[in-house]
Amino acid sequence: MKNSNLKVKIYGVRGSFPPTNGDATKYGVNTTCLRVDMGKHLVIIDAGTGIIKLGADLISEIKAGTKKQNYQKLFMLFTHTHIDHLMGFPYFQLLYMPQTELNIITATQLNYSIEEILETLMSPAFFPVTIAELPSQLNYSDFAENKVVFFFEDDYEIYSTKDSANVKNWIGKISCMRNYTHPKGGVYIYKFENPSGHSIVFATDIEGFVGGDNRLIKFAENADVLIHDAQYSIPEYEIFQGFGHSTYEMACQVAKKAGVKKLILSHHDPKHTDKELEALEKSAKKVFSETYMASELMEFSFQ
Ligand SMILES: [Zn+2]
Ligand SMILES: [Zn+2]
Repeated sequence: MKNSNLKVKIYGVRGSFPPTNGDATKYGVNTTCLRVDMGKHLVIIDAGTGIIKLGADLISEIKAGTKKQNYQKLFMLFTHTHIDHLMGFPYFQLLYMPQTELNIITATQLNYSIEEILETLMSPAFFPVTIAELPSQLNYSDFAENKVVFFFEDDYEIYSTKDSANVKNWIGKISCMRNYTHPKGGVYIYKFENPSGHSIVFATDIEGFVGGDNRLIKFAENADVLIHDAQYSIPEYEIFQGFGHSTYEMACQVAKKAGVKKLILSHHDPKHTDKELEALEKSAKKVFSETYMASELMEFSFQ
């Protein structure tokens, strides 16, 4: 029988930068990174500082000799390339292993290809090792709203949405929705689905609309899990309106209207302490009872 298990594990929950105050550790201090297992394929979303622990975990799994995942051929997608979603990239240990093939599937960002952005990040002014010096192999593919990544038991292929209805024998797929509320180039919201109808939507670095973002409500319809930006408290939002982040109320509105089963609030403000996040979670539960604060190593799995 085919393995079409869909699993998401959260490795980074913070926005902007990792907090250094000691009262913000319960939920985690690392910036955005997700691990998505689709069958035996490993997909990484964003390379915030959370990717450092993810790399260490993958190496432990490799050393333990488990062959259940394909650790040599990895996939990576970026929501966007603000520094909090990129800063962990040079510290991802698997980049330094010759057997690693990293397939980066991401659209051009503000007229820069993802290849140019990563080459700039790992250039002598910023980091001692360049991409060209890495022993691993990096491949790049473009992505867009009119494309779908399909995973099959042993491989993957990117199809146009118009051809996607006839694809057979897939075990997982990724589609995306462009959102323009985040300065200055917007972000990509990703949906991960398996053939038994389970789905997880990751919507970080977005600012809500009055009454909810109708396109997102449709995109996230009946999802098992919606991970949504909720960086600001309601009073903070009055100061930071237009900065491209949401409140828990905005996230709850989308969750309710989309009929999702669980809402996970993420991209926590680095200034928010454990106590403040606990209080925000309590308030959010009054609007949408199945709401939880994202915390590091939280995971969801569907067969
Ligand atoms: Zn961010
Ligand atoms: Zn951002």
